[in-house]
Amino acid sequence: MDCIFCKIIEGSIPSTKVYESDTVLAFKDIQPAAPVHIVIIPKKHIPTMNDVTDEDAAVIAELFAAARQIAKEQGIAEAGYRLVNNVNSDGGQVVYHLHVHLLGGKKLGALVGNNAS
Ligand code: 5GP
Ligand code: ZN
Repeated sequence: MDCIFCKIIEGSIPSTKVYESDTVLAFKDIQPAAPVHIVIIPKKHIPTMNDVTDEDAAVIAELFAAARQIAKEQGIAEAGYRLVNNVNSDGGQVVYHLHVHLLGGKKLGALVGNNAS
């Protein structure tokens, strides 16, 4: 399958892994937007949040459990961090393999400004 993140799971594209379980993988983002920027993905190829089904409940829970553990390990749990899931074009999704960005290590800017239109 022509999916960058599936290739990272296979190992045919290298990555700096920070967490791995049977169902979830996390690695450093190649273009970090914050001092800590980690991408957390299910090993199952799910294109977007829109494609998640009730059968995926356990893997979604594991994704968030991994985020909690990684934030602790990175030493940013108490100071705080942001989890982001971009969906489709308006959401700014570039890689169509479900993922959550874990961002932290500095005070992040406000997410919502005066941009409602
Ligand atoms: P999206 O915009 O789809 O939510 O985020 C995709 C993220 O994947 C981007 O932040 C981008 O920097 C990251 N990314 C894309 N290709 C690679 C890669 O080959 N290796 C790593 N480590 N990150 C990647
Ligand atoms: Zn994939």
